[in-house]
Amino acid sequence: MEITGSIKEVRRQVKEWKKQGLSVGLVPTMGYLHEGHKSLIDRAVKENDRVVVSDFVNPIQFGVNEDLSTYPRDIEADKKLCEAAGADLIFHPTPEEMYAADFSTYVEMQKVSEGLCGKSRPTHFRGVCTVVNKLFNIVMPDRAYFGEKDAQQLAVIRRMVRDLNIDIDIVGCPIVRESDGLAKSSRNTYLNEAERKAALVLSKAVFAGKKMMEEGERDAEKILSAMRGIIEAEPLARIDYVEMVDADSIAPLERAEGRVLTAMAVYIGKTRLIDNFIMEI
Ligand code: AMP
Repeated sequence: MEITGSIKEVRRQVKEWKKQGLSVGLVPTMGYLHEGHKSLIDRAVKENDRVVVSDFVNPIQFGVNEDLSTYPRDIEADKKLCEAAGADLIFHPTPEEMYAADFSTYVEMQKVSEGLCGKSRPTHFRGVCTVVNKLFNIVMPDRAYFGEKDAQQLAVIRRMVRDLNIDIDIVGCPIVRESDGLAKSSRNTYLNEAERKAALVLSKAVFAGKKMMEEGERDAEKILSAMRGIIEAEPLARIDYVEMVDADSIAPLERAEGRVLTAMAVYIGKTRLIDNFIMEI
């Protein structure tokens, strides 16, 4: 397995693979890799001849008061995980390699990126779309892998690929959880012992909402208020949002119908965590 920070080197390598008729999968990440990321890499290794993992904390997707400077990083551990999972190349650029000092072109999306996380993080998806577009243009993969953990991000990427006629298959992968239910996240490392316990209210609310829908409840407000109740009972938790939307358009739903995304962002202390479930009805 190779690791490089050079766009030129990634292009050279991928061109060589393509010349040999090999298919290429891309797994975009911000590093500090865990089992959730690994599940994407595993799937990519199964479905492609060669796999590139990008490992880049993308500054332009962080708001001014967000955790860019404290976001956890451990490239040595990431290398080990990628190597063991069978990835072929890690792309680990510096911010300067990705963004010229006079960088001035952004991919901006309406609607799909405006609700849920877009409300409290108004420049986030502009940063995500821009960097993913750049990664697509650098790697030119056949397929790219994204987690359903970030369900709105997945919807945004699918919409961008459709709208801009990008010839890459987008593959969504299920949420990987800790044994007690907490969705795996690089940000879980911010939690102290009490917060780690408190963070269980997210998955508890997810499981409760899912059960209500499985038992036939369709009224969004009934489901959401039961979920909110579980979260509000935890003193360390503060809700950013708990909402039910169409999983593709991210438009709010009053009734659970179609492909339904029930998603939440909750602060546990200072750490903002997200979780969700998708159900087809
Ligand atoms: P990140 O490094 O947090 O930007 O995540 C990189 C990719 O891994 C994104 O597509 C995430 O949705 C995905 N991912 C992160 N955590 C999980 C998880 N617990 N289960 C599945 N996918 C995940």
